[in-house]
Amino acid sequence: MPYSASSRAYQVCTNCVMDTSDPRITFDDKGVCDHCQGFYRDVLPNWHPDEMGREMFSRTVEKVKAAARGKPYDSIMGLSGGLDSSYLLHLVVNEFGLRPLVFHVDGGWNTDIAVNNIQMLVEKLGLELFTEVINWPEMRDFQLAYFKSGTPHLDIPQDHAFFATMYHFANKYKIKYILNGGNFSTECIRNPKDWIYYGTDMPMINDIRRQFGTIEMKTYPFSGILYHKVFLRYIKGIQVLRPLNYLPYNKQIAIKTLSETYGWKSYPQKHFESRFTKFYEGYWLPTRFGYDTRRVQYSSLIVTKQMTRAEAIEKLKQPPYDPEKIEEEFEYIASKLEISVEELRRYHEMPLKSFRDYRNQEWLFDLGARAMKLLGLERAIKR
Ligand SMILES: [Zn+2]
Repeated sequence: MPYSASSRAYQVCTNCVMDTSDPRITFDDKGVCDHCQGFYRDVLPNWHPDEMGREMFSRTVEKVKAAARGKPYDSIMGLSGGLDSSYLLHLVVNEFGLRPLVFHVDGGWNTDIAVNNIQMLVEKLGLELFTEVINWPEMRDFQLAYFKSGTPHLDIPQDHAFFATMYHFANKYKIKYILNGGNFSTECIRNPKDWIYYGTDMPMINDIRRQFGTIEMKTYPFSGILYHKVFLRYIKGIQVLRPLNYLPYNKQIAIKTLSETYGWKSYPQKHFESRFTKFYEGYWLPTRFGYDTRRVQYSSLIVTKQMTRAEAIEKLKQPPYDPEKIEEEFEYIASKLEISVEELRRYHEMPLKSFRDYRNQEWLFDLGARAMKLLGLERAIKR
C-alpha cells in the first residue's frame, strides 16, 4: 500500500474485500468488518426487493402521480449515462408510467459511450432531456483548486454541480419527488468519507476556492446543505425516493436489459461514464492514496451475492487502470485542464491532505446521517 492513514497492521475483512486502506475500518473477533456488520444488521432485514417491495413502491407511485395531476412532470431525475441511473429511468418510465423531468449535467468530461447511452435512452423512451452545461473555465478552475488542495476529493466539482442542478430544477418546476439511483444492490457498502467526501460541504468548498481558486465563479451552480436539506426538504417538502431498493435490481440483468432494449453500452467500472472520474477513481485515488473504490463496489456485490469473494480478490490483483494507456490518459487530463504533464505530476506527488485540513461541516453531515439512521430513513450510512 502506498499510503495508510495509520501505522496499523494490514488486515482485510474475511467476508468482503474491505481492508485497512479504509482508515476507520474495525473488525470483530472473526475478522468481519464493520461495513459487513452494518449490512447484515441494518440493511438486509429492511430490504425487500420482492413482491412486498413492488407493492410498497406502487403505492408511492400513485401518490407521486396524484400530486402531479395536470403538471408536465411528476418527478425529477439526473441521468449520468451510468448503469444505476439508466436502469432507474427505464423502470420508472416503462414499468410504472412516471413522467420525470430528466436532466444531465455536462461538466466537460463526458465519454462518448455516456453521450450515446443518454441519447438512446431518452429518444427511445420519448422523453425530453434538460442539459445543464457547466461553464468550462469555471469548472476547470474549480477542479484545479481541488488538485492544489492535496485532498483526495477531486470529484467534488462534478458532484456538486449535479446536486445543485437537480435542486434548482426541482424548485423551478415545483417538483415534489426526486428519483435517486442510489441502491443497496450495487452500493450497500459505501465509500468511506476519507475516500469520497460529501459533495455539498460549502465551508470546505469555499475554503479551498478561497485559497486556490483564481477566477470568480459567476455561473457555476452552488447549493449548500441548509438550502437543499433543510429548506427544500422540510419547508418545501421535496422528497427523495430510491426506487431501486424496492425492486429486484441485479447488475448483470440490468446491463442485459438495457443493452437489448436501448443498445446501451456498459463501462469497464462503475462511475467510468465520466473521463475525469475514470482517471480519478481508477488512477489518482489508488496510486496517490491507496484508496481503491473497486473494494467498495466488489464488497457490495459480495454481500448481495452477485460476486464471490474469491472472484473479487482475483480481480483486485489487476490494477484499476490500464498501465499501457495511463501515460496517454495523463496527457489527456493535463491538456484538457490546460496545464503541463509536469504540473499534474507535481499534484500527484505533493503531501497528502484531507478535508480535515480545511474548514468543513463534517459535524453537520454526521449529525444528519445519525438522525436519518435513527428515523430509519437511511440504512447504509457513510462513515
Ligand atoms: Zn466486510
